[in-house]
Amino acid sequence: MVANSKEAGRSREAAEQLVSRTTAETQAVAGTIRTAVEKQRAISSSVQPGMPVGTTEPEDDKKVVYLTFDDGPSENTKKILDILEQYDAKATFFITGANEDCRHYIKEAYDAGHTIGLHTYTHDYDKVYESDEAYYDDLEKIGNVAREQIGFVPCFIRFPGGSSNMVSAQYNKGIMSRLVESVAQKGYQYYDWNLDSGDAAGCGKGEIEQNAVTDKMNHIMILFHDTQTKDATVEALPKILEYYKEKGYEFQAIDRDSYVCHHSVQN
Ligand SMILES: [Zn+2]
Repeated sequence: MVANSKEAGRSREAAEQLVSRTTAETQAVAGTIRTAVEKQRAISSSVQPGMPVGTTEPEDDKKVVYLTFDDGPSENTKKILDILEQYDAKATFFITGANEDCRHYIKEAYDAGHTIGLHTYTHDYDKVYESDEAYYDDLEKIGNVAREQIGFVPCFIRFPGGSSNMVSAQYNKGIMSRLVESVAQKGYQYYDWNLDSGDAAGCGKGEIEQNAVTDKMNHIMILFHDTQTKDATVEALPKILEYYKEKGYEFQAIDRDSYVCHHSVQN
């Protein structure tokens, strides 16, 4: 009996060792898979000259909302991230060089599964659209901010004012027509929007809630702003998310395969 219970003790010990070794190995494999998935995500979101990005003709059987936020980061970015988490919604942030103190939200957003895109470093139209070279100097600067935070330069961009802006014509005739071609050659894709929340124009909560909802399209790309002054955007967001959830839409972050929304160029 003594020998038997000793033996039983030994085999239990062996079994426990086996379990803990297997657990450690499983965790290691899971860690390796996570790292590989993250690496793949970074590669597919980064600039690769010659590699096309996105499609203007997406599968129409899916209903997708792309929530896009320009001009951040700011303290409102954090509030927006919290709301998105509550609704398990993914979004895209087109970042600027504003509010250095808030740049860690860029990484926080990326780590939470949102997409980081480039908007502009300065957002000064007269500087950004002074020349093609000035545009790319500014883009490089904001690309460096992204790289500092998430480890790579994203291929997703949004022009200040969108590709259809006419304000650039005051500084450089024809610059948008040239830039839409040259950004593609450099491996970027630009995204406009097909629904404007109106938050840049100073709309209040109620107006934003109305402007930002429609069920007339299957692929909806909504323009919002996550700047410090846009509290109304933060306040309007839950109702907008509820609306689309009820209508059966999915909230997706822009990725290399997703729908590309382009305006017609005016300059
Ligand atoms: Zn902007």
